[in-house]
Amino acid sequence: MNLILFGPPAAGKGTQAKRLVEQRRMVQLSTGDMLRAAIASGSDLGKQVSGIMERGELVSDDIVIALIEERLPEAEAAGGAIFDGFPRTLAQAQALDAMLKSRGRKIDSVVRLRVDDEALLQRVAGRFAESGRPDDNPDSFKVRLAAYNDQTAPLLPYYEGQGKLVEVDGMGTIEAVAKAIDEALDGVAA
Ligand code: ADP
Repeated sequence: MNLILFGPPAAGKGTQAKRLVEQRRMVQLSTGDMLRAAIASGSDLGKQVSGIMERGELVSDDIVIALIEERLPEAEAAGGAIFDGFPRTLAQAQALDAMLKSRGRKIDSVVRLRVDDEALLQRVAGRFAESGRPDDNPDSFKVRLAAYNDQTAPLLPYYEGQGKLVEVDGMGTIEAVAKAIDEALDGVAA
């Protein structure tokens, strides 16, 4: 099964993806994690993207599409991928569909975590105080939220049109959200 975890920044996608990896035979493909690893390694790619990420802007489509493409064979071997933080633009969504199609695969389900903006702002303020992730500062977070609303939220009708969108309330506890995701996925054929 190939699954997209969809939602605004700090909605809890990474937390839920990690849990799904433990429970199902799937690989988490988080472009944010891949980009942070590139920055940590000091690679040319890392140098190219660090300022963009710190400001909360989107990295170019070409870069993230290439990162995902590299990892598709590994995800297939594991039994499926959980896409976390990808796709974020229509171009990325179309590229993902084309890449999967050429490999005889497809996206099976898109799980949208609904969390209101006020709760997101509170969560990220707490996370910034704890971990100091540079793009969790209030100014960058506003840019990330705007990028989500302007460029990523328009993907919802794209996936709704494909009949793949399921909505989950992301405002509850981690366990309650996990349960809601499991129930949503029970209806999806692998
Ligand atoms: P969050 O979902 O909390 O915003 P991520 O770890 O998914 O965090 O993303 C962090 C940053 O990495 C984004 O603000 C953006 O700069 C970059 N990034 C991650 N994934 C993508 C993507 N698919 N397209 C463009 N930029 C991305």
